[in-house]
Amino acid sequence: MYAIEVVNLVKRYGDFEALKGVTLRIKENEIFALLGPNGAGKTTVLRIIAEGLSYDSGEVKVFGRKLSREALRFIGYVPQEDILYNLLTVEENLQFYADLFDAPAERIDDLIERFSLPRRKKVRELSGGFRKRLSIAVTLLHDPRIIILDEPSTGLDVPSRRELWRIIRELKEEGKTIILATHYMEEAEVLSDRVAIMNEGRVIAVGTVEELKRLAGQSSVLHIEGTIVGAENLGSNVLVKENYVRIPVEDPRKELPKIIDVLLKSGSEIRLVRVEEPTLEDVFLKLTGRGLE
Ligand code: ATP
Repeated sequence: MYAIEVVNLVKRYGDFEALKGVTLRIKENEIFALLGPNGAGKTTVLRIIAEGLSYDSGEVKVFGRKLSREALRFIGYVPQEDILYNLLTVEENLQFYADLFDAPAERIDDLIERFSLPRRKKVRELSGGFRKRLSIAVTLLHDPRIIILDEPSTGLDVPSRRELWRIIRELKEEGKTIILATHYMEEAEVLSDRVAIMNEGRVIAVGTVEELKRLAGQSSVLHIEGTIVGAENLGSNVLVKENYVRIPVEDPRKELPKIIDVLLKSGSEIRLVRVEEPTLEDVFLKLTGRGLE
């Protein structure tokens, strides 16, 4: 039995088809990432599962049961925009949601302690990292078996992001199933057991990070930084960013001199060259012909 099973999900907003037949099977106790650029349909999938947002066709099951009010109790949802009350304290926010979910009062103290939350601080005074921690604490009040996070690390600085990842891993160790949407490939890579890559309302690949990387085909990627000119002459699989390019290659030793030569002759200033393993962004490029962000 899957924690979440979504089969052939179609969702339209007016004439626009945001989900064009999405199928996902998420196992109990895995960390499952939906990775894709803005507009891929990640939030829509999460809202259908976690908020009961209506859909046009397809099937959604939670632990083998059709999605219902009851099934929604198994789920805790941390939306992209938090739902905290700025003028209330940390404790008052938890109290408010505890009343709503009928959660036992001692859970509030447990969660405050567990996430080292400043009990009496007003929410508007919290940093982004603490706000996110409090949002997660709120969703844990009713002790859900599945936790769904939409773009959890957007807007967080590096230390807060690492702390968030630690919290997510800890939830997995406790037996929770975690589903998260992200457009940061690093987040998907370091955190998840499996990743579904989404683009334009479709799942275009699913697997472990290792499995997905094999889809990139090439064994290595040349990462070249500097002011790069003429990268378009190197073929269609090249990812061109503001201050770097990434070029998939079979044999770096053989291909590197030729590539450097082309770039220098076009007037590039090269500061650094690295031979790397493919990343999920290279996989995304291979599958869609464009970069992730
Ligand atoms: P993001 O990270 O930007 O939220 P996403 O992958 O989560 O991206 P969705 O928010 O699911 O994408 O949106 C998918 C598509 O559906 C987008 O093109 C978006 O503009 C459109 N869309 C989302 N919500 C609505 C709505 N309420 N009405 C009309 N179109 C919508």
